[in-house]
Amino acid sequence: MHEVPNLKLNNGVLVPQLGLGVWQAKDGTEVERAIAVAFENGYRLIDTAKIYGNETGVGNAMKASGLKREEIFLTTKLWNSDQGYDQTMRAFDGSLQRLGTDYVDLYLIHWPMPKVGKFTDTWKAFEKLYADKRVRAIGVSNFMVTHLEELLSASDLVPAVNQVELHPRLAQRELREFCDQHDIEVESYSPLMHGGEVLDEDAVKQIANRHSKTPAQVVLRWHIQNGLIVIPKSVTPSRIKENIDIFDFELTAKDMAAIDAMDNGGRINPHPDNLNQ
Ligand code: NDP
Repeated sequence: MHEVPNLKLNNGVLVPQLGLGVWQAKDGTEVERAIAVAFENGYRLIDTAKIYGNETGVGNAMKASGLKREEIFLTTKLWNSDQGYDQTMRAFDGSLQRLGTDYVDLYLIHWPMPKVGKFTDTWKAFEKLYADKRVRAIGVSNFMVTHLEELLSASDLVPAVNQVELHPRLAQRELREFCDQHDIEVESYSPLMHGGEVLDEDAVKQIANRHSKTPAQVVLRWHIQNGLIVIPKSVTPSRIKENIDIFDFELTAKDMAAIDAMDNGGRINPHPDNLNQ
């Protein structure tokens, strides 16, 4: 059982710095087993979304765990076709129903959809859900600096979190700086670059050998030491355990710099300005 440190969001709410992502975990047994293993090993944050199609399984897993609802930090996201004030309210009710709970800890606008132009209206609905205490914190996902600037200039509440693609190939330095200045926590998605090339890099392998850790553990540790929230996905019990076993070692400044040097702006997910449906 591992103890995960908490970060404090800009409204005082505490969030575990590491959680389980469940995109592509199938609804039913697959997602329920993964979450059961995660809870047994100390995970308390689960990151889902309406579009993942597994909110029902996430709700079942929470119920089956025997944990109190307040011990779990549950994130879900508003899908693109549900943007707009009234649609958001309806979509939120649907998510709560599938999740079998009466609140979520963090609700995110999944993508900005700048050409559709509805994210500020959507945010007004998010502010209402927050005021009504149906969500403990509200945030955004895939927002770039320009989208955040537009949102901030039109809104009362600053997002608590911006969840974006972030890994050693795409370190998002400029966005992180902007978020720091505005007290927005950055949450790294696809933190292992989807189990891809960052885990095969010689630099990462050498650092891993030196610390008697795996490449995935080194990369996740890099996120933690950068002050990011990180949500690796796995449905494989051994990897779920491996990914949380990162709080007993520390990367040196030299290790961190070697991993920082891998940034080449490489994305594996769509560019936020190009996703419009
Ligand atoms: P990750 O970088 O977390 O990689 C997940 C993949 O890596 C899976 O194929 C998994 O395989 C494999 N893997 C997991 N752990 C290890 C390990 N220790 N060693 C080797 N391979 C490993 O990618 P995701 O894109 O899934 O991102 C994580 C989460 O972020 C998502 O689940 C979702 O919650 C969120 N997300 C949010 C997005 C957004 O738009 N807001 C977009 C994309 C993701 P296996 O499961 O078979 O073990």
